Amino acid sequence: MRPLIAGNWKMHGTLAEATALARGVAAGPAAGADLLVCPPFPHLAAVSEALRGSHVALGAQDCHAAAKGAHTGDVSAPMLKDVGARFVILGHSERRADHGESDAVVKAKAEAALAEGLVPVVCVGESEAQRLAGEAEAVVAGQLAGSLPAGFAAAGGVVAYEPVWAIGTGRTPTEADIAAMHARIRAELERSFGEAGAALRILYGGSVKPGNAQAILALPHVDGALVGGASLKAEDFLGIAGAV
Ligand code: PEP
Repeated sequence: MRPLIAGNWKMHGTLAEATALARGVAAGPAAGADLLVCPPFPHLAAVSEALRGSHVALGAQDCHAAAKGAHTGDVSAPMLKDVGARFVILGHSERRADHGESDAVVKAKAEAALAEGLVPVVCVGESEAQRLAGEAEAVVAGQLAGSLPAGFAAAGGVVAYEPVWAIGTGRTPTEADIAAMHARIRAELERSFGEAGAALRILYGGSVKPGNAQAILALPHVDGALVGGASLKAEDFLGIAGAV
């Protein structure tokens, strides 16, 4: 399947920096992968404009479970659709930790995204303590069971495996550990969704850089990458996309 290289810009950059970064990414070659950038909310409209007519898709980093209402500070899936987003990252470990998002909350948000025709990119991953305790696969299987709604596979939903301890740390699991976890995720997706689960993209995220991308992206059932820090420089992001 065609890989997806997604950039999670998190809470970084001015409006000018965001639009310059978007233009830089869009100016790169349309490599052998689909490209996606996910800017902070205030920059979505300008980045949407900067990407217009390009091969780079727009995504957001979260949405509320409700379509509208009295939810101060939140943003709804219809608003994201309206501004030109096609994807939305949900259940990132930073949101699970900073905002106490449970699997049930992530699932409700994913349902809201699907109702708008947005593709959810649902993040799962174990903590270091859970990995050391030998619980990594069970934790991730539990997150998948709790976070993915029924319509996920039919909508081409994306799963991102992001071990919490590998995010922004420069550390990555061994290639064998990444391959084992992605195989387990594939098995869980097929168990939940049948044949459709075999066609869903499973991204790896956690300290992906141009230097390690080729080895990671070559692993079985690794269908792309969710990139944080290295997505903030067009050259690095494009370097990762070029490693597909
Ligand atoms: C992320 O937070 O989604 C991520 C993968 O970050 P980094 O690439 O910086 O580890």
